[in-house]
Amino acid sequence: MLYNLPDAEAIFFDLDDTLYDQLLPFQSALKYAKLQIDPANYEVIYKRVRFYSDLLWKSYTKGELTIEQVRSERLKCALREFEIDLSNEQAIEIQERYQYEQKVIELFPHVKSIIKELQNQDKVVGIITNGPVEHQMSKIIALQLDRIISNELIFISDGIGLTKPDKRVFEYVQKQVKISAGKCLYIGDTWENDIAPPIEAGWKSIWFNYRNRKPQSHHQPSLVIKEYDEIIKKILSR
Ligand SMILES: [Mg+2]
Repeated sequence: MLYNLPDAEAIFFDLDDTLYDQLLPFQSALKYAKLQIDPANYEVIYKRVRFYSDLLWKSYTKGELTIEQVRSERLKCALREFEIDLSNEQAIEIQERYQYEQKVIELFPHVKSIIKELQNQDKVVGIITNGPVEHQMSKIIALQLDRIISNELIFISDGIGLTKPDKRVFEYVQKQVKISAGKCLYIGDTWENDIAPPIEAGWKSIWFNYRNRKPQSHHQPSLVIKEYDEIIKKILSR
């Protein structure tokens, strides 16, 4: 075993696609739009939307695009690869439906019991997520995570003025919780945002590689998992 999970004193989770399956609300939004899409392609399209989202996010942080433009453009770019030309109206309609579907999301299996077990072990448990505060909070509330994680342990990029992949996000959080970097652990799904930056900041990381992605750099996560029951085994192995 590379790393013993119980050694961590603070465990922070990414939100989107780490604590809940972001594909499900996306899939429902696409179905709602009645486009000619082979259901076998939903996941690939979703991955391309995430790709364009990360790409366009840089323009958003520089003030070159609004959040609404990022959300429409990422859909249009991704669907263009599948020979579907979305109008602006269609892109907005899909995005609106996507946001509606995100109000009825559910946590991945085992997540709630893992958080509770970690808290029972006196660990600090929180969330670090990129996005606008109101939008991210609405998902946190839909998942009822606000009932088990205290507000001061929820760090949202627009709220703190720092955005992953900037490693200062992790330095900032670590200072807030006053726990040494080596005792802080981050769990997330996106290599560029969730694995490399915390490691650069001296944290440990667990890669929730649910979608079978490839590593993007030399960084070494302490553990790679595809299911949360793999973490349960580590927690119970203390
Ligand atoms: Mg994520």
